Amino acid sequence: MSYHKVFLKSGKEESLKRFHPWIFSGAIARINGEPEEGEVVEVYTSKKEFIAIGHFQIGSIAVRVLSFQQESIDLSFWKSRLAVAWQMRKDIGIATNPTNNTYRLVHGEGDNLPGLIIDVYAKTAVMQAHSAGMHVDRMTISEALAEVMAEEIENIYYKSETTLPYKADLFPENGFLKGGSADNIAQEYGLKFHVDWLKGQKTGFFVDQRENRSLLEHYSKNRSVLNMFCYTGGFSFYAMRGGAKLVHSVDSSAKAIELTNRNVSLNFPDDPRHAAYAEDAFKYLDRMGGEYDLIVLDPPAFAKHKDALRNALQGYRKLNAKAFEKIKPGGILFTFSCSQVVTKDNFRTAVFTAAALSGRKVRILHQLTQPADHPVNIYHPEGEYLKGLVLYVE
Ligand code: SAH
Repeated sequence: MSYHKVFLKSGKEESLKRFHPWIFSGAIARINGEPEEGEVVEVYTSKKEFIAIGHFQIGSIAVRVLSFQQESIDLSFWKSRLAVAWQMRKDIGIATNPTNNTYRLVHGEGDNLPGLIIDVYAKTAVMQAHSAGMHVDRMTISEALAEVMAEEIENIYYKSETTLPYKADLFPENGFLKGGSADNIAQEYGLKFHVDWLKGQKTGFFVDQRENRSLLEHYSKNRSVLNMFCYTGGFSFYAMRGGAKLVHSVDSSAKAIELTNRNVSLNFPDDPRHAAYAEDAFKYLDRMGGEYDLIVLDPPAFAKHKDALRNALQGYRKLNAKAFEKIKPGGILFTFSCSQVVTKDNFRTAVFTAAALSGRKVRILHQLTQPADHPVNIYHPEGEYLKGLVLYVE
């Protein structure tokens, strides 16, 4: 198979020599021919030496690297990448735990597959393309996945209507590429939940908080818990299993509250300890009293782009300040940021400022991040996005 060739400007191959998987449009000197959005292209240095092969896209990131070797991007390529990703999840025990059938199988750059996300929920894999190239190759990827995980996966649902660049005119349609089961109950560490892969956010569930929820379980005994930004109620049902006195789940979306109630009932039917409220976070935090001694703040990404950083940090500061103001003495705060552009230091400074405003004595108990099935490619530090602090508030 012959691919279109992209030639870099002199010196622009340096980051590729260190295996960084993105090529910015400004680094390109010329392109032979006119590759289409999402087409596979070969990349050459100004000295005409092959350096990488990847998906072409019109935009700031012009090529997302699939391989640093000259090879064909075909069914066997996808099969081998998926097999490695799956093997890693087996090696670390996450895909072989009998109480857990929910995990991320492919985490984009973290699995050397930039632009591709695959989450596994029991017998269904939900596949999401964040680049034109992964969309163009979706059928081959789906075929590869069905072969590699023939025993495990019966359904493959493709969900990219909201994740692809609008300008690329790709018109993705969500739907099953394989199978079509309506059974959507999955399990995380023995707790059951419904996954709404049809309408839910992301791939239907926030798989990335699994280990942090599990940690919360161990701090929940006899505590009064507020799970703010609860979405499908993940932290809430862990808190209940951990022996919380009461658990209140809050989210501004009525749909999220409905999902939370359904998931809590699935695990703890008619348990009077739980109540859920559809309300804005800031309003709820303003009107609530001082009854909570365990608070979770897991807001949506406040900054999606660099220029929104200042406002985002202000948002984290205001939100955390309210929690510090209200949390009971001896309380524990789990606070998160999932904005990629907000660094660990940015986030910590925002929380530090909020703590100082409240005048409370605050200790850091844990510094949290994303779990091992959301690995960070060491050559692509941008892949680290989830940050959390567990704080003891005197
Ligand atoms: N903690 C969740 C994930 C949170 S996602 C989990 O473990 O699965 C962020 C959630 O914040 C979304 O469900 C969204 O509906 C909610 N949200 C966004 N803005 C909000 C606001 N101003 N007040 C309350 N909830 C909000």
